[in-house]
Amino acid sequence: MQALVVEDELKVANFVAKGLAEENFEVEIANDGKSGLDLAMKNEYSIIVLDLMLPEMDGLEVLRHLRADNNSTPVIVLTAKDETDDKVKGLDTGADDYLIKPFAFSELHARIRALLRRDSGLAVEKLQVANLLLDPVTRKVTRADKEIDLTQKEYALLEYFMRHAGTVLTRPHISEHVWGYNFDSFTNVIDVYVNFLRKKIDHGHENKLIQTVRGVGYVMKDSEAD
Ligand code: CA
Repeated sequence: MQALVVEDELKVANFVAKGLAEENFEVEIANDGKSGLDLAMKNEYSIIVLDLMLPEMDGLEVLRHLRADNNSTPVIVLTAKDETDDKVKGLDTGADDYLIKPFAFSELHARIRALLRRDSGLAVEKLQVANLLLDPVTRKVTRADKEIDLTQKEYALLEYFMRHAGTVLTRPHISEHVWGYNFDSFTNVIDVYVNFLRKKIDHGHENKLIQTVRGVGYVMKDSEAD
């Protein structure tokens, strides 16, 4: 799958591109609206992530040109907090969704998945590790058929763990995906949330699914499957 990221802020562009590359997208970056539009007209993308405040040509203008050209590639607009009021109203221009900066990669990824699903009409697969099940559509989580209530952050963290089951996830990875690019990964917030999650999904079960990899991070796996 191909993704286009149109964003002049290098930090954000790289953050989004890196996250998408890890999810197996081939990513191209444009740093201004004009070259973004050129790329979008020339190539076929599965998804376009489009910032609004851009040099050369602003995001809404890019979008207007694309839609006028009958290009129906799903577009997610990125917008700064202080722009939302007037800009979000401008989404009639043809954006499929929008995200307010700063955002966590998991939020962006969830929206992209939703748009790709809508376009492809594919059924959504539930995620499963041992007897832990997560339904990305209803956001319902069960372990051994017992429903588990999670806060938004706990859910985002669990979904990230489950999508990467068997892979060791470092704290910087986790912080970028679940918290966002402005988050200080040196705090102990991640560990605190992992402990919340452990209490909810592993407590009372012999088979502990969240494991600590000392000095590195965490891994989710079915330890009885080895
Ligand atoms: Ca910008």
